[in-house]
Amino acid sequence: MAQIDGTSRLAKPLAEFRSSGFGGSVIEETDPAYDEARAIFNAMIEDRPGVIVQCETVEDVVQAVRFGREHDLEIAVRGGGHSVAGMGLTSGGLVIDLRRMNTVTVDPDARTAQVGGGATMSHLDRATEPFGLVTTGGRVSTTGVAGLVLGGGTGWLDRKFGLACDNLLSADLVTAEGELVRASADENPELFWALHGGGGNFGVVTSLALRLYPLASVTAALLLWREEVGPEVVRAFRDFMAQAPDEVGGGVLYLTGAPDEFVPEHLVGELACAVLVTYTGGEEAAREVIRPMLELGHEGELIAEMPYAELQCMLDDPPGLRNYWSAEYLASFPDEAVDAFCASADRMIVPSASQHVLFPQGEP
Ligand SMILES: Cc1cc2nc3c(=O)[nH]c(=O)nc-3n(C[C@H](O)[C@H](O)[C@H](O)COP(=O)(O)OP(=O)(O)OC[C@H]3O[C@@H](n4cnc5c(N)ncnc54)[C@H](O)[C@@H]3O)c2cc1C
Repeated sequence: MAQIDGTSRLAKPLAEFRSSGFGGSVIEETDPAYDEARAIFNAMIEDRPGVIVQCETVEDVVQAVRFGREHDLEIAVRGGGHSVAGMGLTSGGLVIDLRRMNTVTVDPDARTAQVGGGATMSHLDRATEPFGLVTTGGRVSTTGVAGLVLGGGTGWLDRKFGLACDNLLSADLVTAEGELVRASADENPELFWALHGGGGNFGVVTSLALRLYPLASVTAALLLWREEVGPEVVRAFRDFMAQAPDEVGGGVLYLTGAPDEFVPEHLVGELACAVLVTYTGGEEAAREVIRPMLELGHEGELIAEMPYAELQCMLDDPPGLRNYWSAEYLASFPDEAVDAFCASADRMIVPSASQHVLFPQGEP
Protein backbone atom coordinates (compact mmCIF):
# COMPACT_ATOMS: atom_id res chain seq x y z
CA MET A 1 0.00 0.00 0.00
CA ALA A 2 1.26 3.43 -0.88
CA GLN A 3 1.63 6.46 1.30
CA ILE A 4 1.03 10.00 0.22
CA ASP A 5 4.27 11.95 0.64
CA GLY A 6 4.93 15.68 0.76
CA THR A 7 5.51 16.02 -2.95
CA SER A 8 2.17 14.31 -3.37
CA ARG A 9 1.87 12.28 -6.52
CA LEU A 10 -1.79 12.57 -5.69
CA ALA A 11 -2.16 16.35 -5.88
CA LYS A 12 -3.91 16.15 -9.25
CA PRO A 13 -6.10 13.10 -8.47
CA LEU A 14 -7.15 14.69 -5.18
CA ALA A 15 -8.10 17.92 -6.96
CA GLU A 16 -10.18 15.82 -9.37
CA PHE A 17 -11.69 13.87 -6.47
CA ARG A 18 -12.75 17.14 -4.79
CA SER A 19 -14.57 18.29 -7.89
CA SER A 20 -16.01 14.89 -8.76
CA GLY A 21 -19.19 15.34 -6.74
CA PHE A 22 -17.73 14.11 -3.44
CA GLY A 23 -20.04 15.75 -0.91
CA GLY A 24 -17.83 15.78 2.18
CA SER A 25 -14.53 17.46 3.12
CA VAL A 26 -11.08 16.49 1.87
CA ILE A 27 -8.37 17.40 4.35
CA GLU A 28 -4.67 17.22 3.54
CA GLU A 29 -1.63 17.83 5.74
CA THR A 30 -1.41 21.49 4.72
CA ASP A 31 -5.01 22.16 5.72
CA PRO A 32 -5.52 24.18 8.97
CA ALA A 33 -8.19 21.62 10.01
CA TYR A 34 -5.74 18.71 9.64
CA ASP A 35 -4.57 18.30 13.25
CA GLU A 36 -8.08 18.48 14.65
CA ALA A 37 -9.30 16.02 12.02
CA ARG A 38 -6.63 13.42 12.84
CA ALA A 39 -6.97 13.71 16.64
CA ILE A 40 -8.42 10.60 18.28
CA PHE A 41 -9.25 9.64 21.88
CA ASN A 42 -5.73 8.42 22.66
CA ALA A 43 -3.19 11.24 22.36
CA MET A 44 -0.38 8.63 22.35
CA ILE A 45 -1.24 7.94 18.70
CA GLU A 46 0.52 10.40 16.45
CA ASP A 47 -0.25 8.93 13.00
CA ARG A 48 -0.28 11.44 10.17
CA PRO A 49 -2.63 10.30 7.39
CA GLY A 50 -1.91 11.45 3.85
CA VAL A 51 -5.50 12.55 3.44
CA ILE A 52 -8.68 12.49 5.53
CA VAL A 53 -12.04 12.41 3.79
CA GLN A 54 -15.02 13.30 5.95
CA CYS A 55 -18.03 11.64 4.34
CA GLU A 56 -21.62 12.86 4.43
CA THR A 57 -23.36 10.09 2.47
CA VAL A 58 -23.08 6.48 1.41
CA GLU A 59 -22.12 7.67 -2.07
CA ASP A 60 -19.21 9.63 -0.53
CA VAL A 61 -18.01 6.43 1.13
CA VAL A 62 -18.23 4.50 -2.16
CA GLN A 63 -16.21 7.21 -3.91
CA ALA A 64 -13.63 7.32 -1.12
CA VAL A 65 -13.08 3.54 -1.15
CA ARG A 66 -12.74 3.53 -4.94
CA PHE A 67 -10.27 6.43 -4.77
CA GLY A 68 -8.18 4.58 -2.20
CA ARG A 69 -8.20 1.42 -4.32
CA GLU A 70 -7.36 3.22 -7.51
CA HIS A 71 -4.34 4.87 -5.92
CA ASP A 72 -3.27 1.88 -3.83
CA LEU A 73 -3.64 3.70 -0.52
CA GLU A 74 -3.84 2.05 2.87
CA ILE A 75 -7.35 2.80 4.11
CA ALA A 76 -8.43 3.32 7.74
CA VAL A 77 -12.06 3.76 8.78
CA ARG A 78 -12.70 6.21 11.57
CA GLY A 79 -15.87 6.14 13.66
CA GLY A 80 -15.82 7.32 17.27
CA GLY A 81 -12.00 7.33 17.33
CA HIS A 82 -11.89 5.21 20.50
CA SER A 83 -9.50 2.54 19.35
CA VAL A 84 -6.74 2.92 21.94
CA ALA A 85 -4.35 1.27 19.48
CA GLY A 86 -5.28 3.87 16.84
CA MET A 87 -6.97 1.52 14.35
CA GLY A 88 -9.06 4.40 13.03
CA LEU A 89 -5.95 6.13 11.66
CA THR A 90 -3.22 5.32 9.16
CA SER A 91 0.23 6.76 8.62
CA GLY A 92 0.41 8.23 5.16
CA GLY A 93 -2.74 6.56 3.82
CA LEU A 94 -6.41 7.51 3.48
CA VAL A 95 -8.74 7.94 6.47
CA ILE A 96 -12.44 7.55 5.75
CA ASP A 97 -13.99 9.58 8.56
CA LEU A 98 -17.66 8.76 9.20
CA ARG A 99 -18.36 11.11 12.10
CA ARG A 100 -20.83 13.19 10.09
CA MET A 101 -22.92 10.09 9.31
CA ASN A 102 -24.38 9.92 12.80
CA THR A 103 -28.15 9.93 12.29
CA VAL A 104 -30.15 7.49 14.44
CA THR A 105 -33.75 6.61 13.56
CA VAL A 106 -35.85 4.66 16.05
CA ASP A 107 -38.83 2.48 15.18
CA PRO A 108 -40.52 2.11 18.58
CA ASP A 109 -43.07 -0.42 17.34
CA ALA A 110 -40.52 -2.76 15.80
CA ARG A 111 -38.09 -1.93 18.66
CA THR A 112 -35.21 -1.31 16.30
CA ALA A 113 -32.78 1.53 15.64
CA GLN A 114 -31.10 2.37 12.34
CA VAL A 115 -27.73 3.85 13.27
CA GLY A 116 -25.35 5.80 11.05
CA GLY A 117 -21.85 4.32 10.67
CA GLY A 118 -20.27 7.28 12.52
CA ALA A 119 -22.76 7.62 15.39
CA THR A 120 -21.53 7.38 18.98
CA MET A 121 -23.28 5.63 21.84
CA SER A 122 -24.46 9.06 22.97
CA HIS A 123 -26.27 9.63 19.65
CA LEU A 124 -27.88 6.20 20.00
CA ASP A 125 -28.82 6.42 23.69
CA ARG A 126 -30.28 9.93 23.36
CA ALA A 127 -32.39 8.81 20.38
CA THR A 128 -33.81 5.71 22.08
CA GLU A 129 -34.33 7.30 25.53
CA PRO A 130 -37.62 9.13 24.72
CA PHE A 131 -39.16 5.74 23.81
CA GLY A 132 -37.93 4.02 26.98
CA LEU A 133 -35.82 1.72 24.81
CA VAL A 134 -32.16 0.69 25.11
CA THR A 135 -29.62 -1.74 23.73
CA THR A 136 -26.29 -3.00 25.01
CA GLY A 137 -23.59 -0.38 24.54
CA GLY A 138 -20.16 -0.09 26.11
CA ARG A 139 -19.54 1.67 29.40
CA VAL A 140 -19.07 5.23 28.15
CA SER A 141 -21.09 7.42 25.79
CA THR A 142 -18.38 8.61 23.42
CA THR A 143 -17.51 5.24 21.85
CA GLY A 144 -18.50 4.74 18.21
CA VAL A 145 -21.46 2.36 17.83
CA ALA A 146 -20.11 0.64 14.71
CA GLY A 147 -16.61 0.14 16.15
CA LEU A 148 -18.11 -1.26 19.36
CA VAL A 149 -20.65 -3.57 17.72
CA LEU A 150 -18.28 -4.90 15.05
CA GLY A 151 -15.75 -5.75 17.77
CA GLY A 152 -18.30 -7.63 19.90
CA GLY A 153 -19.18 -4.94 22.43
CA THR A 154 -19.53 -5.64 26.12
CA GLY A 155 -21.33 -3.25 28.47
CA TRP A 156 -23.46 -2.82 31.58
CA LEU A 157 -26.44 -4.56 29.95
CA ASP A 158 -24.80 -7.57 28.29
CA ARG A 159 -25.83 -10.13 30.93
CA LYS A 160 -29.44 -9.10 30.37
CA PHE A 161 -29.57 -8.31 26.63
CA GLY A 162 -26.48 -10.00 25.17
CA LEU A 163 -23.33 -8.48 23.71
CA ALA A 164 -23.77 -5.48 21.43
CA CYS A 165 -23.13 -7.67 18.37
CA ASP A 166 -25.87 -10.10 19.49
CA ASN A 167 -28.32 -7.28 18.80
CA LEU A 168 -27.07 -6.56 15.29
CA LEU A 169 -29.91 -7.20 12.85
CA SER A 170 -28.26 -6.01 9.65
CA ALA A 171 -25.43 -3.86 8.37
CA ASP A 172 -25.08 -1.89 5.15
CA LEU A 173 -21.46 -1.77 4.13
CA VAL A 174 -19.22 -0.70 1.31
CA THR A 175 -16.88 -3.54 0.44
CA ALA A 176 -13.24 -3.25 -0.59
CA GLU A 177 -14.48 -3.36 -4.20
CA GLY A 178 -16.50 -0.21 -3.53
CA GLU A 179 -19.86 -2.03 -3.71
CA LEU A 180 -22.69 -1.34 -1.27
CA VAL A 181 -24.11 -4.59 0.16
CA ARG A 182 -26.39 -5.57 3.01
CA ALA A 183 -25.47 -8.29 5.48
CA SER A 184 -28.12 -9.92 7.65
CA ALA A 185 -29.25 -13.41 8.63
CA ASP A 186 -30.88 -13.67 5.17
CA GLU A 187 -28.55 -11.64 2.96
CA ASN A 188 -24.85 -12.44 2.77
CA PRO A 189 -25.09 -14.52 5.97
CA GLU A 190 -21.38 -15.40 6.08
CA LEU A 191 -20.42 -11.76 5.94
CA PHE A 192 -23.02 -11.10 8.64
CA TRP A 193 -21.37 -13.77 10.80
CA ALA A 194 -17.95 -12.14 10.31
CA LEU A 195 -19.29 -8.79 11.46
CA HIS A 196 -19.95 -10.29 14.90
CA GLY A 197 -16.52 -9.52 16.28
CA GLY A 198 -14.49 -9.22 13.09
CA GLY A 199 -14.05 -5.47 13.56
CA GLY A 200 -13.65 -3.08 10.68
CA ASN A 201 -11.93 -5.55 8.38
CA PHE A 202 -14.84 -6.47 6.14
CA GLY A 203 -15.91 -3.13 4.73
CA VAL A 204 -17.05 0.32 5.70
CA VAL A 205 -20.33 0.04 7.58
CA THR A 206 -22.49 2.99 6.63
CA SER A 207 -25.50 1.97 8.73
CA LEU A 208 -26.49 -0.72 11.23
CA ALA A 209 -29.87 -1.95 12.44
CA LEU A 210 -29.93 -2.85 16.13
CA ARG A 211 -32.53 -4.56 18.32
CA LEU A 212 -33.88 -2.50 21.24
CA TYR A 213 -35.41 -3.44 24.59
CA PRO A 214 -37.74 -1.60 26.94
CA LEU A 215 -35.97 -0.29 30.05
CA ALA A 216 -37.28 2.62 32.10
CA SER A 217 -34.24 3.19 34.27
CA VAL A 218 -31.17 1.62 35.81
CA THR A 219 -29.62 1.86 39.25
CA ALA A 220 -25.88 2.30 39.66
CA ALA A 221 -24.03 1.66 42.91
CA LEU A 222 -20.42 2.67 43.50
CA LEU A 223 -19.05 1.26 46.77
CA LEU A 224 -15.59 2.03 48.18
CA TRP A 225 -13.22 0.24 50.53
CA ARG A 226 -9.66 0.82 51.71
CA GLU A 227 -7.07 -0.81 49.46
CA GLU A 228 -5.94 -3.22 52.20
CA VAL A 229 -9.23 -5.13 52.19
CA GLY A 230 -9.16 -5.39 48.37
CA PRO A 231 -8.51 -9.17 48.17
CA GLU A 232 -11.52 -9.87 50.40
CA VAL A 233 -13.74 -7.49 48.39
CA VAL A 234 -12.63 -8.84 45.00
CA ARG A 235 -13.29 -12.44 46.08
CA ALA A 236 -16.68 -11.49 47.49
CA PHE A 237 -17.64 -9.67 44.31
CA ARG A 238 -16.55 -12.60 42.15
CA ASP A 239 -18.72 -14.94 44.22
CA PHE A 240 -21.60 -12.46 44.20
CA MET A 241 -21.51 -12.18 40.38
CA ALA A 242 -21.43 -15.95 39.97
CA GLN A 243 -24.95 -16.15 41.40
CA ALA A 244 -26.26 -12.67 40.58
CA PRO A 245 -29.31 -12.40 38.31
CA ASP A 246 -28.89 -11.23 34.70
CA GLU A 247 -30.24 -7.82 35.74
CA VAL A 248 -26.89 -7.13 37.43
CA GLY A 249 -23.77 -5.90 35.63
CA GLY A 250 -20.55 -4.44 36.87
CA GLY A 251 -16.93 -4.72 37.78
CA VAL A 252 -14.41 -4.35 40.56
CA LEU A 253 -11.60 -1.86 40.34
CA TYR A 254 -8.78 -0.03 42.04
CA LEU A 255 -8.83 3.73 41.67
CA THR A 256 -7.70 6.89 43.38
CA GLY A 257 -10.41 8.41 45.60
CA ALA A 258 -11.67 11.67 44.08
CA PRO A 259 -12.68 14.69 46.18
CA ASP A 260 -16.40 13.89 45.84
CA GLU A 261 -19.04 14.17 48.54
CA PHE A 262 -19.54 10.41 48.86
CA VAL A 263 -15.80 9.70 49.22
CA PRO A 264 -14.69 9.73 52.89
CA GLU A 265 -11.84 12.11 53.59
CA HIS A 266 -9.34 9.34 54.38
CA LEU A 267 -9.82 7.86 50.87
CA VAL A 268 -9.43 11.12 48.93
CA GLY A 269 -6.18 10.98 46.98
CA GLU A 270 -5.58 7.41 48.19
CA LEU A 271 -5.75 4.09 46.37
CA ALA A 272 -9.13 2.48 47.03
CA CYS A 273 -10.88 -0.71 46.03
CA ALA A 274 -14.27 -0.08 44.44
CA VAL A 275 -17.20 -2.06 43.15
CA LEU A 276 -19.43 -0.56 40.48
CA VAL A 277 -22.67 -2.51 40.14
CA THR A 278 -25.54 -1.75 37.81
CA TYR A 279 -29.06 -3.09 38.04
CA THR A 280 -31.72 -2.90 35.36
CA GLY A 281 -34.44 -1.72 37.71
CA GLY A 282 -35.25 0.65 40.56
CA GLU A 283 -33.14 1.55 43.60
CA GLU A 284 -35.14 -0.37 46.19
CA ALA A 285 -34.88 -3.64 44.28
CA ALA A 286 -31.22 -2.92 43.51
CA ARG A 287 -30.37 -2.50 47.20
CA GLU A 288 -31.99 -5.84 47.95
CA VAL A 289 -30.13 -7.65 45.15
CA ILE A 290 -26.70 -6.21 46.02
CA ARG A 291 -27.17 -6.71 49.76
CA PRO A 292 -24.24 -9.19 50.01
CA MET A 293 -21.92 -6.40 48.83
CA LEU A 294 -23.56 -3.77 51.04
CA GLU A 295 -23.00 -6.00 54.07
CA LEU A 296 -19.25 -6.07 53.52
CA GLY A 297 -18.72 -2.82 55.42
CA HIS A 298 -17.87 -0.36 52.64
CA GLU A 299 -16.67 3.14 53.53
CA GLY A 300 -18.09 5.25 50.71
CA GLU A 301 -21.28 4.83 48.72
CA LEU A 302 -23.11 6.42 45.81
CA ILE A 303 -26.34 4.67 44.82
CA ALA A 304 -28.71 6.31 42.35
CA GLU A 305 -31.47 5.39 39.92
CA MET A 306 -31.15 7.14 36.58
CA PRO A 307 -31.95 6.86 32.86
CA TYR A 308 -29.61 4.46 31.06
CA ALA A 309 -28.30 7.32 28.86
CA GLU A 310 -27.13 9.09 32.03
CA LEU A 311 -25.40 6.01 33.38
CA GLN A 312 -23.54 5.77 30.09
CA CYS A 313 -21.98 9.23 30.66
CA MET A 314 -20.83 8.55 34.24
CA LEU A 315 -17.38 7.31 33.28
CA ASP A 316 -16.76 9.51 30.23
CA ASP A 317 -13.10 10.49 30.11
CA PRO A 318 -12.00 13.63 28.33
CA PRO A 319 -10.36 12.86 24.97
CA GLY A 320 -6.77 13.86 24.32
CA LEU A 321 -5.09 12.20 27.31
CA ARG A 322 -2.18 9.82 26.75
CA ASN A 323 -3.61 6.32 27.30
CA TYR A 324 -1.86 3.00 27.79
CA TRP A 325 -4.19 0.01 28.11
CA SER A 326 -3.65 -3.71 28.30
CA ALA A 327 -6.28 -6.39 28.79
CA GLU A 328 -6.69 -10.13 29.31
CA TYR A 329 -9.75 -12.30 28.77
CA LEU A 330 -10.14 -14.79 31.60
CA ALA A 331 -12.52 -17.74 31.34
CA SER A 332 -12.52 -17.96 35.14
CA PHE A 333 -11.24 -15.87 38.03
CA PRO A 334 -9.65 -18.23 40.56
CA ASP A 335 -8.06 -17.09 43.83
CA GLU A 336 -4.60 -17.01 42.23
CA ALA A 337 -5.85 -14.54 39.62
CA VAL A 338 -7.53 -12.45 42.31
CA ASP A 339 -4.25 -12.32 44.24
CA ALA A 340 -2.28 -11.35 41.12
CA PHE A 341 -4.82 -8.62 40.34
CA CYS A 342 -4.68 -7.21 43.87
CA ALA A 343 -0.88 -7.45 44.03
CA SER A 344 -0.56 -5.41 40.86
CA ALA A 345 -2.74 -2.74 42.46
CA ASP A 346 0.02 -2.40 45.08
CA ARG A 347 2.30 -1.24 42.30
CA MET A 348 -0.10 1.41 40.99
CA ILE A 349 1.09 5.00 41.11
CA VAL A 350 -1.22 7.28 43.10
CA PRO A 351 -2.97 9.34 41.86
CA SER A 352 -3.32 7.08 38.88
CA ALA A 353 -5.53 5.54 36.28
CA SER A 354 -7.61 2.50 37.22
CA GLN A 355 -7.29 -1.24 36.85
CA HIS A 356 -10.45 -3.27 36.73
CA VAL A 357 -12.04 -6.67 36.24
CA LEU A 358 -15.36 -6.62 34.40
CA PHE A 359 -17.86 -9.45 34.60
CA PRO A 360 -19.61 -9.64 31.23
CA GLN A 361 -22.01 -12.31 29.98
CA GLY A 362 -21.56 -15.74 31.49
CA GLU A 363 -19.82 -16.73 34.66
CA PRO A 364 -16.53 -15.09 35.56
C1 LIG B 1 -12.89 5.18 27.06
C2 LIG B 1 -13.19 3.89 26.33
C3 LIG B 1 -14.10 3.01 26.88
C4 LIG B 1 -14.40 1.80 26.23
N1 LIG B 1 -15.29 0.95 26.81
C5 LIG B 1 -15.63 -0.19 26.19
C6 LIG B 1 -16.61 -1.07 26.75
O1 LIG B 1 -17.16 -0.82 27.80
N2 LIG B 1 -16.92 -2.19 26.06
C7 LIG B 1 -16.32 -2.51 24.87
O2 LIG B 1 -16.65 -3.54 24.29
N3 LIG B 1 -15.37 -1.71 24.33
C8 LIG B 1 -15.02 -0.56 24.97
N4 LIG B 1 -14.06 0.25 24.42
C9 LIG B 1 -13.36 -0.20 23.19
C10 LIG B 1 -14.13 0.29 21.97
O3 LIG B 1 -15.42 -0.29 21.92
C11 LIG B 1 -13.41 -0.15 20.68
O4 LIG B 1 -12.12 0.41 20.65
C12 LIG B 1 -14.18 0.25 19.45
O5 LIG B 1 -13.62 -0.38 18.33
C13 LIG B 1 -14.18 1.74 19.26
O6 LIG B 1 -14.96 2.10 18.16
P1 LIG B 1 -14.87 3.60 17.62
O7 LIG B 1 -15.73 3.70 16.43
O8 LIG B 1 -15.10 4.56 18.73
O9 LIG B 1 -13.32 3.74 17.29
P2 LIG B 1 -12.46 3.96 15.98
O10 LIG B 1 -11.07 4.15 16.51
O11 LIG B 1 -13.01 5.03 15.14
O12 LIG B 1 -12.59 2.58 15.26
C14 LIG B 1 -12.18 1.38 15.87
C15 LIG B 1 -12.13 0.25 14.86
O13 LIG B 1 -13.44 0.04 14.33
C16 LIG B 1 -13.45 0.27 12.94
N5 LIG B 1 -14.69 0.99 12.60
C17 LIG B 1 -15.25 2.02 13.27
N6 LIG B 1 -16.38 2.39 12.65
C18 LIG B 1 -16.50 1.59 11.57
C19 LIG B 1 -17.47 1.49 10.53
N7 LIG B 1 -18.53 2.29 10.49
N8 LIG B 1 -17.28 0.55 9.57
C20 LIG B 1 -16.22 -0.29 9.63
N9 LIG B 1 -15.28 -0.23 10.58
C21 LIG B 1 -15.42 0.68 11.54
C22 LIG B 1 -12.21 1.11 12.67
O14 LIG B 1 -11.74 0.95 11.38
C23 LIG B 1 -11.23 0.58 13.68
O15 LIG B 1 -10.63 -0.60 13.22
C24 LIG B 1 -13.74 1.47 25.02
C25 LIG B 1 -12.80 2.35 24.47
C26 LIG B 1 -12.52 3.55 25.13
C27 LIG B 1 -11.49 4.47 24.56
